[in-house]
Amino acid sequence: MNPQVPDGPPLPTTPSRVAVGAVLLSLGVLVSAALPSPADDLGVGLLAAVAFLVGSWATWTAARRSSHPPVWGWYALGLTVAGTGATLALHLPGSTVPMTVGALPGMLLTLVPLQRLLPPGTWRRMRAQLVTSLLLLLVASMLCALASFELVAGRRLGLSTLFDGTLVALGVTLSALVSLGLLVLSTTAGKVRRVAALALGAQLAVAVALVLIAFADEARGTSPALVASTVAAVAALGLLLCAALLDTTPGTPASPDEAPSVVAALLPHLAALTAGLLLLAGVLASGSLGAPQSVLGGLGLLLLFAHQTVSWRDGRDLTRRLQRSESRFRAVVRAAVDQVVILDGRLAITWASPGMADLIGRTPARLVGRDVRVAVHPDDRAALTAALLTPQTDAGDRTTTARVRHDDGRWRLVQALVRDLRQDPDIEALVLYCRDITRVEAPAPAQATHQPAGGSDPETGLPDRSALVAGLAEVLDGGGPGHALVQLWVTGLADAHRGTAAPPEVALDLAGRFSRVLRTGDRLFRVGPQEFAVLLTGAVSDAETLAHRLVATVGADVPVLGLRLSASAGTTAVTADDLEPVQVVRRAAMAMASARTAGPGRVRRHSVAALIAANRQEALRTDLAHALERDELRLVYQPVVDLALQRAGSVEALMRWQHPVWGAISPAEFIPLAEESAMVTTLGRWVMHTATAAVAALHRPDLSVAVNVAARHVRSGQLLADVRDALAASGLPGDRLVLELTESVLLDEAHVTDDLEALRRLGVRIAVDDFGTGWSSLAYLVGLPIDVLKMDRQFLASVESGPRHQALCRSVLHLGTSLGMDVVVEGVETPRELQLLRDMGHRFVQGFLLARPTELGRLEDTLDEIPAALHAGTADDVREVVL
Ligand code: C2E
Ligand code: CA
Ligand code: CA
Repeated sequence: MNPQVPDGPPLPTTPSRVAVGAVLLSLGVLVSAALPSPADDLGVGLLAAVAFLVGSWATWTAARRSSHPPVWGWYALGLTVAGTGATLALHLPGSTVPMTVGALPGMLLTLVPLQRLLPPGTWRRMRAQLVTSLLLLLVASMLCALASFELVAGRRLGLSTLFDGTLVALGVTLSALVSLGLLVLSTTAGKVRRVAALALGAQLAVAVALVLIAFADEARGTSPALVASTVAAVAALGLLLCAALLDTTPGTPASPDEAPSVVAALLPHLAALTAGLLLLAGVLASGSLGAPQSVLGGLGLLLLFAHQTVSWRDGRDLTRRLQRSESRFRAVVRAAVDQVVILDGRLAITWASPGMADLIGRTPARLVGRDVRVAVHPDDRAALTAALLTPQTDAGDRTTTARVRHDDGRWRLVQALVRDLRQDPDIEALVLYCRDITRVEAPAPAQATHQPAGGSDPETGLPDRSALVAGLAEVLDGGGPGHALVQLWVTGLADAHRGTAAPPEVALDLAGRFSRVLRTGDRLFRVGPQEFAVLLTGAVSDAETLAHRLVATVGADVPVLGLRLSASAGTTAVTADDLEPVQVVRRAAMAMASARTAGPGRVRRHSVAALIAANRQEALRTDLAHALERDELRLVYQPVVDLALQRAGSVEALMRWQHPVWGAISPAEFIPLAEESAMVTTLGRWVMHTATAAVAALHRPDLSVAVNVAARHVRSGQLLADVRDALAASGLPGDRLVLELTESVLLDEAHVTDDLEALRRLGVRIAVDDFGTGWSSLAYLVGLPIDVLKMDRQFLASVESGPRHQALCRSVLHLGTSLGMDVVVEGVETPRELQLLRDMGHRFVQGFLLARPTELGRLEDTLDEIPAALHAGTADDVREVVL
């Protein structure tokens, strides 16, 4: 596990040592200021020295609580040295050093902390580029100053000007300013940007102070300039203090992968160009080139060459890295469960994963360059085009289904998850994750396969209610069971109260959409102005799956011919007890009514059990609100075992609810209820505090604790603060906490990723829970801030079913590991499963075989028993503990 290193390379000095240095230097200033001075501005000198002393002390104190203490420590030191140098140059008896030169070392020192404010890794990756840019800027700005002076004053300057204190100060100040400007440009996120802007302000004030000092220097003893420079220097320290005080949360700097801004990249060239033009103007005006200009111009050309060389080299390295990461991406995509197709803006295929050959019988080479719609059923093309090309208003992905012709001539039903990355400048493509959902051959118009007796609906041509009754009678005659009914209500299709109805084309369009998601043998009916029904072969669970698909095709965000419709559906099984078709229809209608009450998009199954469950749910929902205060909740801990070290590396905290009436309630039942409201955040906070405190108290420094975090808690924006609080209260170091999130959260809005990055800077590790149960394949997770992958139990189930599954399993485990993640396999129950995982060289496991979730009181014993459980391959004594 590799917690991210928060900043760039470590600095050699600790903040406290910096502070001691700063204080000593400031004391030196005091002493020097007290010395007899040739000028009569001793009071001003003393004031400046005291101000520097107080300012740097305050900055250092604030720095201790900031997120980048060394940065502010170095700043305080740099400015103190600058102030000291300037004061010494002025007050030291017999000094001939210009004050600006005295301040120079300190100014250069302030460039040291600068690089620590840059996004992590910038300095490491771009050191050579930054150095050449800065030198180029320095030379160009000096050239500009020289050339404009000559143009304006009409007087030629000698070579000695190059060593003039004022000019050096001007150059250094300008380059320091520009470099800070670069910094502000390249740090993107809010807080750090504000901090950097304040630091920039401080540097500006110092520049003003320096220029004023230069004036004071030329006429020693002229106090107004000196007073003004003191004010500017004090302002600089004040601004710095504010910056250090503001810098309290680890900021969100620009991602290291982000390209530097265009302005930042072109600034050195722009400066060189300006200098060149000014030189040209000078030559045109005076007919020749001055000596200092020639020297600086030659130097500038050399630096420009060096800068170009460095940029070219960096560009070449970047291309190589890109090529490597692309081949890694391809490897990941190849191992993904879903097939991936990448489309350009005109929907032509630019890349397809090799598995597409299985899906549609054509190799990727035969697909590239072709329009993706070519193999799609003509009836489905319009819907597919709309799904692909309509801009995605919400952040989420969308799913679309279409019939696709296999090379063998048969139709396959393919469901695709569409990621619109056309706006992403690095990708500019649509990415489709395709899945074959054909059970049997997909139908070309479904209802045509079977035409029962009865009438038909005039608008759609579909069989009507009497046909449904006839169809059901036929099924019941044939024995009944083995069939199920879906009844679908479409809100918005007609208004019974006002006697209005949508135009007939809408119903026709709907009928087309529905038939697209049907399987062969499924029969679609229009049973009322707003009702459809499907009679299908299969269990009620099949009916539910179908109902969900039907409802999704009318989702609130899928306008049908411009109309916003919604649907709800009820399902029921055809049972052996059904004597009359109407009994079946009535049950389906009841379930549909209950779905309508529940809201648009809902699907309800008719059953007595469902009715009871709904009641129980209602009761639990009410009681859960008080469970915490009534002390009915507790945590149990299940070890995650490291097979390499033969011990538990962490424990996962799992919630338990002891309900006074219903007894033990599984989190699988009550967590979804809590997720319906902000309640889940309160519970999550409690879990975080309790679990971190419990594990901190165990005195096992190698043991981490994993906490499950609900999606809603992550989205609430409070997670970061809650984690900090829990860590502070328990004293547990951040790197001993793991947060388990589900994959859907990770694909959420950008602020989630920002929060996760901030958490990782605290050392906290992020785990993806239940991996393998959702939509995503590993390809999704590349580049997300993830340290641990927890493979769902289902994943293990496939391991024992043969060598092909084992090979798949091995490759996924290997891939996770090679992406730098720790992979935990959950639900290891049998010695054989453990042996298989061991044979694959797998390292982290969790499951009843090694340890059940354990009460805190018994946890130490359970942890101690793990080596024995590993040897026995089973932990019998904990197996029957009921929690
Ligand atoms: P999960 O995060 O996947 O937790 C693992 C579940 O698998 C736990 O069920 C654990 O008891 C069970 N388990 C562990 N080893 C085995 C095994 O070998 N075989 C089998 N069959 N099961 C095993 P549990 O405790 O019932 O928790 C269910 C789910 O409830 C958790 O799934 C998690 O998603 C959620 N949950 C539990 N505690 C919390 C919590 O504090 N906060 C949140 N947000 N969710 C929680
Ligand atoms: Ca979990
Ligand atoms: Ca899990």
